[in-house]
Amino acid sequence: MARLLSSILRNNSLRCICRVPRRPLPRQCRPILQLEHARSIETTFRTTSDEDNRKLGSSSITKTLNFLDEKEEYTIEDPFEMFERSCMVLRDQPPKMTEFPMGQDVVLYGYIGKRKDLGSALSFCDFQDKDSKADFQIVSQWEDPDSRQYYAHKSLKAIPSYSPVMLMGTVQESQKKSTDPLVEAKGLEKVDIRIKYIRCLNTFPKDVVVSKDTVWPAKARHMQLRFDPFLRDRLIFRAWIKRQLIRILAARKFLEIETPVLFKSTPEGAREFLVPTRKKGYAYALPQSPQQYKQTLMAGGILKYYQFAKCFRDEDHRADRQPEFTQLDLEMGFVTGREVMNLVTVLVTSLFVQLHQSWRIVEINGVRHPVRIAPEDHASERKRAKRWVKPLTDPGELINRFPRPQPITILKYADAMKRYGSDKPDLRIDFPWATWIYRMGQRGKGLPSQFTRMISRLPDPVVEAFRFRLDAPHNPDVSRQFIKNFMDSLPNSTLNIGPENTPGVFVYDSAKPLNGLSALGFDGVELLDSMQEKWPKCIDGDILIFHARKDAPLHGGWTEIGKIRTALYWTAVNEGLIPKNNNFHVLWVHGFPLFSPTGDDPGQGGKAGICSTHHPFTAPLNDQDFKNLKTEPLHVKADHYDLVINGVEIGGGSRRIHIAEVQEYVLRDILKMTDEGISQFSHLLDALRAGCPPHAGFAFGFDRLISVLLDVPSVRDVIAFPKTNKGEDLLVGSPAKVTPEQMKTYHIFGEADKIPEDEIEA
Ligand code: ASP
Repeated sequence: MARLLSSILRNNSLRCICRVPRRPLPRQCRPILQLEHARSIETTFRTTSDEDNRKLGSSSITKTLNFLDEKEEYTIEDPFEMFERSCMVLRDQPPKMTEFPMGQDVVLYGYIGKRKDLGSALSFCDFQDKDSKADFQIVSQWEDPDSRQYYAHKSLKAIPSYSPVMLMGTVQESQKKSTDPLVEAKGLEKVDIRIKYIRCLNTFPKDVVVSKDTVWPAKARHMQLRFDPFLRDRLIFRAWIKRQLIRILAARKFLEIETPVLFKSTPEGAREFLVPTRKKGYAYALPQSPQQYKQTLMAGGILKYYQFAKCFRDEDHRADRQPEFTQLDLEMGFVTGREVMNLVTVLVTSLFVQLHQSWRIVEINGVRHPVRIAPEDHASERKRAKRWVKPLTDPGELINRFPRPQPITILKYADAMKRYGSDKPDLRIDFPWATWIYRMGQRGKGLPSQFTRMISRLPDPVVEAFRFRLDAPHNPDVSRQFIKNFMDSLPNSTLNIGPENTPGVFVYDSAKPLNGLSALGFDGVELLDSMQEKWPKCIDGDILIFHARKDAPLHGGWTEIGKIRTALYWTAVNEGLIPKNNNFHVLWVHGFPLFSPTGDDPGQGGKAGICSTHHPFTAPLNDQDFKNLKTEPLHVKADHYDLVINGVEIGGGSRRIHIAEVQEYVLRDILKMTDEGISQFSHLLDALRAGCPPHAGFAFGFDRLISVLLDVPSVRDVIAFPKTNKGEDLLVGSPAKVTPEQMKTYHIFGEADKIPEDEIEA
């Protein structure tokens, strides 16, 4: 404060704004000058529109310039002074300009780039306008040493590169040569501004080296955001998608409702984060999803709900998971699961239509990146949407548009697992590259037992196989080398192939005895031939993969052969042996098992050895499933559906158990939860008991949706402030160590036990 006051007293804080002598002004003059300055800018800008500017020539902005002109050399000033002046300069901004005709006077705010000096009287400098309206270049040139241009030039040279500035100048013919490929792709008009005035609003540190190759550490996320235009664009894209989804839901009369973030611990399925309180022995828990609140909304008669919700799960730090993530969560009353699936299908389809109309994809240095087709303007968007009804006549217009998905497929969980070995199959992994996975004969019969024993230690396994093909020229040697490298890398891969089974691998080669399949024997080869209907004739270079598994009902997300099939495809794509398919394949998977054997996750903590596959509020699929609950829980199917795009689970939902007695029966008699566990859901049971209607819902993993649409490798690429795979935010340094005071205040780590009762605040 003292520093601020002394700076104010020391300096004439308006000397850059008004043409006043560089002499300390009496303090009492400041308000008068400020007022005058504000009024002047106000009259100038209020009467200045683009249209006015054109009509009036540039006289109004020139008037401002006259007023703001400072014919003295700029030096980096006291930060307190810069702070004060920045506020003044920003207070009355002129109307935004969308066009930049030659000779036009402009006032712009943004960042200067690296300056190039061509002698002492001419400099060029990139300029990034805050609204990204054009590809600007500052031209600073002076002839008369007592001109505005002279002082502007001096100022420009004193301002460190990358600093935020306000500038005034005149549009002149652009001489800009080099352009960023991204800027080029955006088709921004090149505009040169001959500056007459420039004011630094804050200084960028001179010792920070900025170059195209600078890799900013996670701690400097602000630098990543500032200097990675691709990252910034992805955030813009994310916000655009969010707006579209809100628009579609609002048009269908969905109500946006926020639910609490400070919730309580319940055994819904995932491990939670606790938030200790000052009340000894009490803690909140952060919600793993707004599931229980949204069901309560249904009981409360709010029958069409949605929300972009933060969810928190203390999961193991597996790749590409965030302990906090965003869902687009929704729920509907008086509906079946099918109706929710239909609504989500409409949402996704409309979203892709909007994407196709509004974005195109450009490829820069091998990276596919979305670029907006037209300026964000809701009215014109609607007009374009109408236009879309008629087919576009110009085929050129469709080139590089954001791809529209293939027709949406619906697949049962059991079929997905059998055909693709995954509950989230990537349908791009298909003909001609990979066949479905087929069961070979009955329990491997037809295959020589010697071969089955070679690939499995299991007594009576199921043997499955698929055929894999690389792109032309279909050379067995290329395939052999490819598959050898793949198999060699398997033990160190993250695929987690168990020790009981090893893949049996063949390369089809017509130059070899039995086409290279002799280890299968005549019977095996005959068996393969008998599968011709499903499995078109092999050609040279085809790779056949056999893999065994236990003959038991399928649970979980993958079979081992499914993992191999997927990994094989991506290895081939990454090695350029199969072309990358950039289309979108959207798919519903439904009819999941209601329960799964208890694994690593805590589940509901029941004693039955099973836990809910989705969550414990999910309804059985049909009457028969309901009847089988008690006798064959692991065979019961759920009215649970997942949306999958290109092999990534984008979201999931279910029809809920809406009758309290049934819900309690599942918790108590099927999952075998304790009374204490069940009582943690008492609020939900009470809500269901109060005449809650049938209801169903869904939640999109919003981060994943965006990362899949943008085809980026990680959700971190589409989150402004992501956490590492250890759950840390390196920018702010969270989680942070708890101080002894906090331990005391929040009664954590048992420290509180040592504190005398009377010292503890209730
Ligand atoms: N709450 C569920 C989840 O987070 C989604 C749902 O069932 O609506 O996956």
